[in-house]
Amino acid sequence: IIQLYGPLNLFGTSYRSLQKNFIDMEKMLDLFQEPVEIQDLPEAKPLVMSGGEVVFENVSFGYIPQNPNLKSVSFKIPHGKKLALVGPSGGGKSTILRLLFRFYDPTQGRILIDGQDIRMRRRIQSGESSGVESSRRVLLSGKSTKASGGRGRKGKSSSLLSSPEVAGITEGGEDADVEGDGGEYEEDEDWEDDGRIQAAAEAAQIHEIISRFPEAYATRVGERGMRLSGGEKQRVAIARTILKNPPILLLDEATSALDTQTERDIQNSIESISKDRTTLMIAHRLSTIVDADEILVIQKGEIAEQGSHEELMQAGGIYAAMWMQQLREDRTPAGSSHSSQKD
Ligand code: ATP
Repeated sequence: IIQLYGPLNLFGTSYRSLQKNFIDMEKMLDLFQEPVEIQDLPEAKPLVMSGGEVVFENVSFGYIPQNPNLKSVSFKIPHGKKLALVGPSGGGKSTILRLLFRFYDPTQGRILIDGQDIRMRRRIQSGESSGVESSRRVLLSGKSTKASGGRGRKGKSSSLLSSPEVAGITEGGEDADVEGDGGEYEEDEDWEDDGRIQAAAEAAQIHEIISRFPEAYATRVGERGMRLSGGEKQRVAIARTILKNPPILLLDEATSALDTQTERDIQNSIESISKDRTTLMIAHRLSTIVDADEILVIQKGEIAEQGSHEELMQAGGIYAAMWMQQLREDRTPAGSSHSSQKD
């Protein structure tokens, strides 16, 4: 289902540590390591994805039951639309993503994907087979990536760009139905076709950079390999997402302070992958979501405001205040060099 995309972290309500700038990837990978507490119902059928519509109906949830972290949250992301979650730290944005991945079930309410209550279906094993060793991966080489099956890949080096193992996404044609089949993602036989990989890297605006590495797409990254910058990691993650072609895209924007050009490049690649695709994005840099179809301000577990960028600016509430605050921070030389607000 979902791609978790991990990478896009662009913003921070304020600047969190630079360490976090890869978050997203890492945060997502961490997420996948959380114990899954929910159990499928016996006889549960697979979730069948079609258009990728997401509905939250009066969803409440608390990590500790007596202390709700989400209170009766309702929203709908129609097929192909983009919804952004913003709001103060601890408000509940990541919790919404976790529920959608079904790391937990709501205490009240329902979550529907393409009309199916996800609680009644088999859980898509998004991350479990995800071999999560990003640091060991080869940046991108078809050759060493015959990681078979869905599990037990520890120690195998696989390519950063080419492996479909990151987040339960399924490869497929444009209108492929994605069947939640328990998390086995077949390795594509054409996988070694670098054409596709390169096309994805180009769309993510990382191809030129990769080409300049001595070993190009075979570059190994991580501990003993190449260290990618925050912006490069994000773009690599975007390229992986493009390869996976998920029907629903989950993005968690990084909080790093990137230079303006890098931010623009990433912004462009996000736009290209989220176009006409159902997208749920946690955003920190408000400039990246001015085009969202809908923005929810999540605060203390509730939707405090909702609307388009223009509507929320006119309303003059929390979102408008966050926007002004970010403009001020961007103008402060000591802050970051963001200057890509669109209006
Ligand atoms: P941020 O922008 O800082 O990532 P967020 O809006 O994504 O914040 P969540 O991570 O969803 O916020 O957290 C919502 C609340 O739930 C917070 O008060 C947090 O401390 C709490 N929380 C998150 N994970 C757990 C957990 N595993 N157990 C108990 N409480 C948790």
